[in-house]
Amino acid sequence: QDPSKGSTVLTEPSTLVGQPKVTIGKEKATLLMLVRNRELHKALGSMRMVEDRFNRKFHYPWTFMNDKPFTDDFIRFTTGMASGPVEYVVIPKEHWSVPDSLNKTKIQQGMEKLRTEGVIYGGSSSYRHMCRFNSGFFYRQEALKKYDWYWRVEPDIELYCDINYDPFTFMRESGKVYGWVLSMFEFEATIPTLWQHTKDFISKFPQFIAEDNSLGWIVDGANVTKAFAEKKVEGNYNLCHFWSNFEIASLNFYRSEPYQKYFDYLDSQGGFFYERWGDAPVHSLALALMLPRNKIHHFADIGYNHAPASRCPQDDASHVSGRCYCDRSRNYDNDNYSCGPRWFALNGVGIGALLPASLQ
Ligand code: GDP
Ligand code: MN
Repeated sequence: QDPSKGSTVLTEPSTLVGQPKVTIGKEKATLLMLVRNRELHKALGSMRMVEDRFNRKFHYPWTFMNDKPFTDDFIRFTTGMASGPVEYVVIPKEHWSVPDSLNKTKIQQGMEKLRTEGVIYGGSSSYRHMCRFNSGFFYRQEALKKYDWYWRVEPDIELYCDINYDPFTFMRESGKVYGWVLSMFEFEATIPTLWQHTKDFISKFPQFIAEDNSLGWIVDGANVTKAFAEKKVEGNYNLCHFWSNFEIASLNFYRSEPYQKYFDYLDSQGGFFYERWGDAPVHSLALALMLPRNKIHHFADIGYNHAPASRCPQDDASHVSGRCYCDRSRNYDNDNYSCGPRWFALNGVGIGALLPASLQ
């Protein structure tokens, strides 16, 4: 059975509500937010930014997902804020559950361990469901079948600059698969065995390594050509990942056999629950190994904030044009935890990605 066509029955029908709003943007794309009812205000804040800076000109549809039914207020107010159609998805139970095969005692012990170590969300079971969902299930929802692209939006983000072009069209026309703004190191305590499982997976499915991949970004000093030629991944994961609270990406990447097999393999190992694997390192490891690096795009022109990290575009044009309102010195690329410099060193610097000498 093809897992991408698999068990995507919604527990409740998704609902299309609101006044008629017409999509003008030409891509099969949606703005996507997984969110809780109690985050309504922060969700509206993000929507306001995305609408003002981008979507008021394109009217792309919004898709909201929740493990619980949305409240009437959530639906009314977000529909009101949207300039395009809105769809509300209740996630089916089997996409937000602990797999039967896992050991419940081991899960409790794992959560307790990370809680006492003070790891962020270490003791949270809902956070684990969220990370597993964002790794393996968001793209399987019925409501997304009609789309090729998504832009992940989280509550309480900020956009600093007008986006006067269609980034989905840009992605499609330039053959890109994944777009990101911020990258950083993961907390090692949340993924102690993820890399070993990833290497094991690749040894089972060596054909999934892409030529000219981004192994060099996730393993310091890696020999990418050799890894591809020998179909073998060696070395230590440096914990670099794309920060997945912002993603403009192809759904078809996740629907592909390599990604589906990778997710299923990881899921069967239990680390989403025994440890606290994040969707960001899971996406990033798959992208880095399974895609040629020129299919990954850094949006250097999108000013973005998700606490505690921000990136203000560094090029003059973004500012001279008046598109942006942000402080250029707020650039996470300069933080010791950023993996941006590693990316730029390997792939070249995007539009003004580094702080101009005059501002250093
Ligand atoms: P952080 O960005 O890692 O600090 O985590 P967030 O709390 O922002 O969660 C990531 C995303 O998942 C956000 O869009 C949240 O609204 C959403 N989210 C997190 N936990 C849950 C949950 O239990 N239920 C639902 N429906 N959404 C959640
Ligand atoms: Mn968040």
